[in-house]
Amino acid sequence: MDKQLTIALVAHDNRKADMVEWALHNAELLSKHKLICTGTTGSLIQKAFEEKGIQADITCMNSGPMGGDAEIAALVVRKQISLAIFLIDDLNPQPHEADIQMLLRQCRVHNVPIACNRYSADLMITSSLWEHEDYVPSMPRYVKFQR
Ligand code: PGA
Repeated sequence: MDKQLTIALVAHDNRKADMVEWALHNAELLSKHKLICTGTTGSLIQKAFEEKGIQADITCMNSGPMGGDAEIAALVVRKQISLAIFLIDDLNPQPHEADIQMLLRQCRVHNVPIACNRYSADLMITSSLWEHEDYVPSMPRYVKFQR
């Protein structure tokens, strides 16, 4: 893919191993794009890439519980994120549930593709639609339903 994307990467603690494995598996592709991560997720990916000698453009925001998800949500609102990979721990409560819901909601509102599992992430980063000149994503419509 020639087009450079800005990809947000966020993983809850129990999903970080999955995220690092996914990032390493897709390192060649990811190294061509800009990666914006929550703090701990980003530093783990950076370390894993460095160990393998992989160069990548990684920006780390605050840690998720300290506002990292909120910072990424703000970038979504400003149309500065092409897609988000958000590996959520659905089996354990998180202290920053409000911020998690905000990031998910802003991706929906602003029509930003968001993958919450590796399968969706694989489909999204390999989609040819990113470079399809004629493809215009349709925006969500909110049409009042009349019974
Ligand atoms: P972290 O944040 O990458 O700083 O751990 C992720 C999160 O918990 O939302």
